[in-house]
Amino acid sequence: MAEYDVDLFVIGGGSGGVRAARIAAQHGARVMLAEEYRLGGTCVIRGCVPKKLLVYASRFHAEFEDAAGFGWTVPHPTFDWARLIANKDKEIARLEMAYGSLLEKAKVDVFKGRATLADAHTVQLSNGDRIRAAHVLVSTGGTPSFGDRIPGLEHAISSNEAFHLHELPRRIVIQGGGYIAVEFAGIFSGLGSQVTLVYRGENILRGFDDDVRQHARMDMEKRGIKVVTGRTIAAIEHSEPHFSVRLSDGNHIAADRVMFATGRVPNVSKVGLKEAGVEIARNGGIAVDEYSRTTAQNIYAVGDVTNRVNLTPVAIREGHAFADSVFGGKPTRVDHTNVPTAVFSDPEIGTVGLTEAQARAQLVRTDIYRAMFRPLKATLSGRDSTVLMKLVVDGVTDHVVGCHVVGEGAAEMAQVAAIAVKMGATKADFDATMALHPTMAEELVTMRTRSASYVREAAE
Ligand SMILES: Cc1cc2nc3c(=O)[nH]c(=O)nc-3n(C[C@H](O)[C@H](O)[C@H](O)COP(=O)(O)OP(=O)(O)OC[C@H]3O[C@@H](n4cnc5c(N)ncnc54)[C@H](O)[C@@H]3O)c2cc1C
Repeated sequence: MAEYDVDLFVIGGGSGGVRAARIAAQHGARVMLAEEYRLGGTCVIRGCVPKKLLVYASRFHAEFEDAAGFGWTVPHPTFDWARLIANKDKEIARLEMAYGSLLEKAKVDVFKGRATLADAHTVQLSNGDRIRAAHVLVSTGGTPSFGDRIPGLEHAISSNEAFHLHELPRRIVIQGGGYIAVEFAGIFSGLGSQVTLVYRGENILRGFDDDVRQHARMDMEKRGIKVVTGRTIAAIEHSEPHFSVRLSDGNHIAADRVMFATGRVPNVSKVGLKEAGVEIARNGGIAVDEYSRTTAQNIYAVGDVTNRVNLTPVAIREGHAFADSVFGGKPTRVDHTNVPTAVFSDPEIGTVGLTEAQARAQLVRTDIYRAMFRPLKATLSGRDSTVLMKLVVDGVTDHVVGCHVVGEGAAEMAQVAAIAVKMGATKADFDATMALHPTMAEELVTMRTRSASYVREAAE
């Protein structure tokens, strides 16, 4: 490979790129990686990690309120946004450093700047240098999309800016119904903002189980978040220092901040993909095969830029599998089924496997087990909140094909339930598992009565 400066050039130092670079280097490859913003990528710098820290902060609000029923007298709590953001930034800077030293230890050469493809084997760096690479991995991630241009859109922020606001907005309008919109609604509401969530569809959290969507919305509304569906933001009018948000039905909402969380698009532009012969798929991401190889023989792509399953653990797996396949002599495919996922909203959602609607469309018979109950904690706290647990079972094989939880600890439950679902556990296995009492999760192994059973009508 002497004609090349490196065996692998990685464009993008996020979850997928960093893992791929490190593992490829461990397999003996000479690796260079370019990151134009901050090492760690979306997840570490302005995604999962800072978001979860803000979620933790926001949940103290309800804890302080709930404490009274357990005998505590809590003096009126006050909250300091600037301190939270400073502490969060410190932790993110520490993680960024950790990523740097991880790559350094693995002997990956890191370039802090932008990289683009000049052709399939030539990477153009923003400092003017050109690197010849035997293989290239594109792991450039995704970026917030604002949808249609509306008047005043320049005043809107995305999740990127939400992490760096100078002050907590007293009133915020968030457009979007996906997990990021719903999570930020919970964060701002918990920290004391008045939150209005605007979504054009019938209900928020499209793609999740319908019972979950309904339950989550109901609970969010109980906690004071105003959810406006079937409408969109038509214009943002700025009248210093506030905004007036005009909805598609003509109504106005006053706000101190307007946030758009209307989806993300793969970072495929200005990377030189065309020049290198890399094609784009119908989903807008880079087209790849099951080994993450693009239409150019020596170029691969992993993570959000391929728009497959846009989650950190998936990007990491894909990056690792790529490195093992190309440099470790171990061809590895990533299984994208039964990926557990969570929404760190209030209430929290944890889910794995098929929704009821998906199961009913795919299976001959679908059995549903559902429980809705008041958690023990709410008896003394007095909080008006219920938990939802739902199992979707293949009525022919008895396999549990879906598990959905809405309530405290739902994400942790979904991670563990995912092992059982992935292993092909049956409802009988769940029933044979001893309950752990008193927990909410015990309901998953004690639901004996079917709530519903559906037989798919034979296709014409
Ligand atoms: C607000 C938010 C919350 C999220 N929460 C979760 C969560 O709870 N759980 C979860 O699993 N996932 C979550 N995600 C998704 C997760 O962050 C992504 O799936 C993950 O980061 C994808 O990793 P990646 O390597 O594909 O891309 P990224 O992590 O986005 O990394 C891509 C990197 O490439 C760099 N780059 C782009 N172009 C170039 C170029 N030409 N040259 C050099 N560098 C370049 C970018 O600066 C970036 O650092 C969240 C995302 C957001 C936005």
